[in-house]
Amino acid sequence: MADTILLPEFSLFLKEKKQEGVKIIAFLAHDNIPEELIDAAGFFPLRMMFGGNDELMEASHDFLPPSTCAFAQSCIGLFSTKPNDFRFLDLVDYFIVSNHCVSDVCASEIITKYFNISRLNFYVPYMTDESSLKYFKLELQNLKEQLEDIIGEKISDEKLSESIKKYNDFKKKLSQVNDLEILGSEKLKIIQKAILYGPTFLPDLEKYIEEVKTSPPQNLGLSKDILFTGCSIFINDNLVDLIEEGGGNIVYFDTWIGNHYYSQVIDDDSINSNKDPLDLLVLRFKNNKYGDHSVPNFLQQKVSSIENYSKNYIKKTGKKLGVFNHIIKFCDHISLMASFLKNELQEKGIQILNLERDYSRANRGQLSTRIEAYLEMMK
Ligand code: SF4
Repeated sequence: MADTILLPEFSLFLKEKKQEGVKIIAFLAHDNIPEELIDAAGFFPLRMMFGGNDELMEASHDFLPPSTCAFAQSCIGLFSTKPNDFRFLDLVDYFIVSNHCVSDVCASEIITKYFNISRLNFYVPYMTDESSLKYFKLELQNLKEQLEDIIGEKISDEKLSESIKKYNDFKKKLSQVNDLEILGSEKLKIIQKAILYGPTFLPDLEKYIEEVKTSPPQNLGLSKDILFTGCSIFINDNLVDLIEEGGGNIVYFDTWIGNHYYSQVIDDDSINSNKDPLDLLVLRFKNNKYGDHSVPNFLQQKVSSIENYSKNYIKKTGKKLGVFNHIIKFCDHISLMASFLKNELQEKGIQILNLERDYSRANRGQLSTRIEAYLEMMK
């Protein structure tokens, strides 16, 4: 069930930020954007992590062909139509154009160009060898300078280190939500809210985790457990409800709004060392083995991480674990790897459902049927 108060409350939160003089920097919600740099400059990093619908996708067709991924289409649609709950997008001061994928570049360029939002550039290498890491550091330096030009002063190492530690602690806490035995829709709701608000949400997050630990929900029902990989389920997308209505329960979100985000932490020794803070961000990029943008052998690592999780899960719970690979229509990154992932996992005895869809309402019935058929097969 969509959280009806999340966006109105978030809108008020952003308005207050603006009244305090904080500028808002938005970007599409994938890996590798250094939100710590944005935070250290005194800005608020706003992840575009909102799902779409027919109207939003349709509105983007004035700018891009319908063969662009449905998420990128919907991001453009949000800026072009500004539905009531999204009026806060009027508060965005800057938009980062980055190269997670072609759709990300196109959508971000269109948003900056046609909706009159100043552009910041941040490019991410596709490899993690020595020269790519050097290039990544130059890009970090470059983004830092772009931010310093806006605020008219240098971002000190102390300030940046503070932000890095703050986000690191936040992610560590957020990763504990993974292990809570709660319904997938509840888990997703708290993960989405936490990532949307960022470390400001840490006290609420701690309180929530404590409450669940003290009085865990009883009777999660006889659901079939699911590891969810591929594209994220973004805010306002009802896919998690369809899965639960069909008798499934997502226990693990292996996505950008999920494990990809909070698994990217820096080890304590490095954090407490006197390293240049930009080198800490480079280290994190180098260690990001789940990212679909820039890791050599990404697919092999994905297969082995799903296999390991699945084995451990079965051992721990004695239950079967299904795998859904969510492919937002025309998402190059995830659709390109779909058949490889399916074949590899099936060879290892893991049944996987490649669930491709866009945000149109007309798909709902067909999606439900596919989900139910898969869950039925899991018996
Ligand atoms: S193509 Fe995939 S990775 Fe790129 S913006 Fe769309 S959903 Fe994200």
